[in-house]
Amino acid sequence: MKEIKYQKGRAWMELSMENLKHNIKEFRRILPWDCALMPAVKANAYGHGAVLTANALQEQGVQAFCVASVAEGAELRQSGIKGELLVLGYTAPSQFDDLICYHLTQTVIDGDYARQLERDGRRFTVHVGIDTGMHRLGERWENLEEIVKIFRIPNLQVTGLYSHLCVSDGQSEPERAYTLEQIQHFEYIVRELHRQGFNDFKCHLQGSYGVLNYSEYCFDYARVGIALYGLYSQKGDQGYAAVDLKPVLSLKARVTTVKTLSKGEGAGYGLTYNAKMDRKIAVLSIGYADGVPRNLSNCGYVLCNGKLAPIVGRICMDQMMVDVTDIPQIRAGDEAVLIGRSGKLEIRAEDLAQWAGTISNEIVSRLGERLERVAD
Ligand SMILES: *Cc1c(COP(=O)(O)O)cnc(C)c1O
Repeated sequence: MKEIKYQKGRAWMELSMENLKHNIKEFRRILPWDCALMPAVKANAYGHGAVLTANALQEQGVQAFCVASVAEGAELRQSGIKGELLVLGYTAPSQFDDLICYHLTQTVIDGDYARQLERDGRRFTVHVGIDTGMHRLGERWENLEEIVKIFRIPNLQVTGLYSHLCVSDGQSEPERAYTLEQIQHFEYIVRELHRQGFNDFKCHLQGSYGVLNYSEYCFDYARVGIALYGLYSQKGDQGYAAVDLKPVLSLKARVTTVKTLSKGEGAGYGLTYNAKMDRKIAVLSIGYADGVPRNLSNCGYVLCNGKLAPIVGRICMDQMMVDVTDIPQIRAGDEAVLIGRSGKLEIRAEDLAQWAGTISNEIVSRLGERLERVAD
């Protein structure tokens, strides 16, 4: 994983494989022994780098992965990932070739989709999706007969059955009640299928918050995503499980120039920032095209030399500006930390998410192609 010569020249992420390993261990510690990890490495492993991450997971004995699309699955196969690669999303008939060519497992989205696969005539490996209440993908749990029909389609090799929880991160009474209902609906379908003689398939239901908040329930796989990267979706949203998770990703950029602004001068597009007194401004070589949300304009902070520097002016496509008046020693060439530690301070992806009005999942999964990925 060190074959590429990294420059850390402009903007980059640093990925702690130590922390990733630590998080895998933590999940294995809280999961029952017979529940395996099936990590979500979709969206380029939530921006962390799918090939890098999946390889590290595979080295730790992970044998099943979730991706969003055929293209994501193909990329991992081409880079030598073995085991089961489950495509969670829709695959168009024009891409059915690739399901077979790359030995991908396709989600059966509903009964109609199963018949589309049937008409193709080739043998597909599938997991059947069940809609237990999210009302996104999956055949509705109420349609047991339809689900049984899917299992009976001769050219579908059904190796799994799964559903997805939609309020498992919530700890309110109604959210817990809804989640428990979803679990019951899923268990009902599993029981009925077993009763009708279908026994040779794996079951999975929980993503990160399903595990963190409902660790007493366990199926064959846990499809953990965000938490495996050491992140919670929102600040303070740790869930019930006693786990110690460490963020894998840090995001950094260079200070390219430092300049002084006189009282009353503006900065950036639209001059939306105006210096109320003489200020010192640093320009950073990272912008919204790298995945820094543009609505952090005049909002939020970065770290420079162990100190907080407020973001000033609009975030540009490739650059941004911060106020470094209180950081006297700062110079061009220094590092700025957008996510991660500097000295005694830390900015977490959850902080950025809060400032930008979103969740950490969106922050990290949008971190762009242009960033170098430096793994330790
Ligand atoms: C993305 C996804 C996951 C992983 O979710 P996290 O909350 O990131 O753990 C699991 N299952 C499905 C169906 C998903 O789409």
